[in-house]
Formats: sequence, C-alpha cells, structure tokens
Amino acid sequence: MTRPILSARGLGKRFGGFTALDGIDIDVAPGERLGLIGPNGSGKSTFVNCLAGEFPRHGGTVSFLGQPLDGLKPHARAWRGLSRTFQLPRPFGSLSVAQNVAVPLRFAPVRPDDVAARVQDCLTRVGMADKADAMPANLTQVDLRKLELARALAPAPQLLIADEVMAGLSHSEVDQILDLLLELNAGGTAIIMIEHVMRAVTAFSQRLAVFVAGRKVAEGEPQAVLATPEVEAAYLGT
Ligand code: ADP
Ligand code: MG
Repeated sequence: MTRPILSARGLGKRFGGFTALDGIDIDVAPGERLGLIGPNGSGKSTFVNCLAGEFPRHGGTVSFLGQPLDGLKPHARAWRGLSRTFQLPRPFGSLSVAQNVAVPLRFAPVRPDDVAARVQDCLTRVGMADKADAMPANLTQVDLRKLELARALAPAPQLLIADEVMAGLSHSEVDQILDLLLELNAGGTAIIMIEHVMRAVTAFSQRLAVFVAGRKVAEGEPQAVLATPEVEAAYLGT
C-alpha cells in the first residue's frame, strides 16, 4: 500500500495472565476504509484502547503519521489525528449535545472563539445540527451514536475508529450511519469500522481484517476473507 498512516506491529495486551491481544499487525492507508470483525471477546475494543492510549500495550510498536504514540494520553493522540468512538457511548447527561461535543475541544489547540463553529460543523456532519441544544436523555439510540461520532470528529481526525456504532439499530438507522461514515471517508478521513452488522461491513470495507481470540486470522479483500475456512468456522459459524 501507499505509506500507511497507522502501522501496528506485534501489538500485544495482557490482562493479568490472560492474553487479550497476541502479536497484532495492522496497517491503515491514508483515506482507507478498513473493516475489523471478530467474535465477541476477540480483542477488537482492546486493540482500539491500546491504539488510543486508554491503557498500555504489552509489546510491539505503533506508528501513526510516521511517529510513535508512546507516552501520549488519549486526548493527545486524538489531536495527533487518531480518534475513536466508545462502544458504550457515555455522554455527559447534564450537558447539551453541543456542550458534549465541545468537551474534547477544551484540550485542543483551538481558539475559544472558534469552538462554537467547530462544534456546529461536527454536528452538521452527523446530521444533528438541529439538535445542538437537546439533552442526551432525550435522544434516540441512533442520535446517541451520531453524538458519539460528532464528539470523535471534534479533533478533526485523519483516522477515525468506529467501535460498533451500529449495534442494535434498525435497518434504516444502520443505513443512516453507513452513509454518514462513507461521507466522512469521502472527505478524506480513514476509518476503521468495527462492526457485527455484516451487510454494513461488506458495503463499507475496502479491506477486511478478522480477529479471533486475540489474533488476526485473516486480512484482505472482504469477499475473499469471508470465504476463508478459518473465518467461516471461527466467526460466521458461531
Ligand atoms: P471485543 O471488543 O472483540 O468484543 P474486547 O477487546 O472487549 O473484545 O475483549 C477481549 C478480551 O479481553 C475479553 O475476554 C475481555 O473479557 C477481556 N478484557 C477486555 N478489557 C478488559 C479489562 N479492562 N480487564 C480485564 N479483561 C478485559
Ligand atoms: Mg468490543
């Protein structure tokens, strides 16, 4: 591929004596759409947490935009351009939609005068410009996911990792999020989509990687990957 923006090599993670990630290698090209699938507990969110700096990894190297991310806190990584959504969105209930999106901008190299415009731009990009003053408690599930995406977009990431943002949504809501992610990608943002909704994964992904029990067991062109016996047995067969 062209020079990757993200390059992880031999990434490992243990929780006590349990190996959650075992030597993961992943590259992401600029502007790429990469799907990441695998059974529950296969280490997908742990991988995201290690990349995002939520907790330390055990072994391996990670390079983003040609530089290591070691020692940087999550917000600093986001401002370098690597931003993620959380599988369980946790908006601040006492803050409005717009105020929630503004939170990450407090840590940011953004002039205070520019914050409101930046927030409005993020909300517009996820189709929530008219809900800036709503409170999270009054949002539907799909709007909570859009809010989570807007929050992740606030640092203007070059790589966005969307961790199961479609889970539990209806067919048409999945389509809304899919269109939104495709539009963000068309604007140049590389995206890793972690998802169980297979029709969305296959519609979205230029390339697919599969985790099983903390290892990457397959990677490549989506249809070919889904047809490999290991993937059918370990993932689709369950
Ligand atoms: P996935 O996102 O693919 O469903 P996870 O990355 O959430 O999987 O979890 C991978 C494994 O690591 C699971 O067995 C899970 O129980 C374990 N795990 C994840 N986070 C922690 C943690 N903070 N402490 C201990 N074990 C964890
Ligand atoms: Mg997960």
